[in-house]
This record gives sequence, C-alpha cells and structure tokens, in this order.
Amino acid sequence: MESRSSTALRGRRLSRPSEHMLKTKTYGLGRVCAVEGCGTRLSAYNPSDVCALHNGAWQNAGDHGARKAVRRDEITRRCAYEGCGREFTTTNPAKRYCSDACRMRAFQARVVAARRVGDPSVAGARRAS
Ligand SMILES: [Zn+2]
Ligand SMILES: [Zn+2]
Repeated sequence: MESRSSTALRGRRLSRPSEHMLKTKTYGLGRVCAVEGCGTRLSAYNPSDVCALHNGAWQNAGDHGARKAVRRDEITRRCAYEGCGREFTTTNPAKRYCSDACRMRAFQARVVAARRVGDPSVAGARRAS
C-alpha cells in the first residue's frame, strides 16, 4: 500500500510539474491575519502575513494597472481657445487645444491681453514722469 502510493505520487509529479511548484510555494495552513482583532484565516498561497482585506498592496496592483490603461485611452475634451470651443479627442491629457492653430491663437491672445494690461501703466508712468 505504502509503496504503491509513493509510486503514484512520483508519477503525478513527473507528468504535472506545476503541481509540484505549487506545493513548494505554499506558506502553511492554519495561519491567521497578523492584524490584531482580525483573525481571518490566511490562504496557504497568500505570501503575506495579513488577510486580503488588510493587505491592499498585492490586491490593488492589478487594479492600478487597469486604471493607467484607461488613462491612455482617447479623451474627448473641448478646445481651450475661447473662440473655438470645438470638441476633439486626444490621447495626451496635457493637450488643451484642438489644433496647433488654436494653440497659437490662444497664445497670441494671451500676449495681447498681457500688453493691454501693461500698456496703460507704462503710458501712465510716462505721463507722470
Ligand atoms: Zn485581516
Ligand atoms: Zn480649437
């Protein structure tokens, strides 16, 4: 009986190496969460000392990657140039204008606005002096 079971085990190991790998990777049964007052029984395949609830790191790892992938998708946004306001799609979250033309126009508008603000004070200073 004993010799029979041992040969069967050996045969299984040879044909299914993954099962052998799994066995070496277990961390022991009957362990409980290290967080005081939790007492959740840990899975033998859980490499950490705490339960899944208290160990967010290995659980959220996949979640995090998924969120990043979503960010890379196309975003629909409105052109930041007031005179345009056209909706456009982009994969670049930093892009604010539908086109280079709008970006240039918005830049020029900003320069003009800055000059408008600067001119009276300069003129006033000249008048005062
Ligand atoms: Zn716990
Ligand atoms: Zn635009």
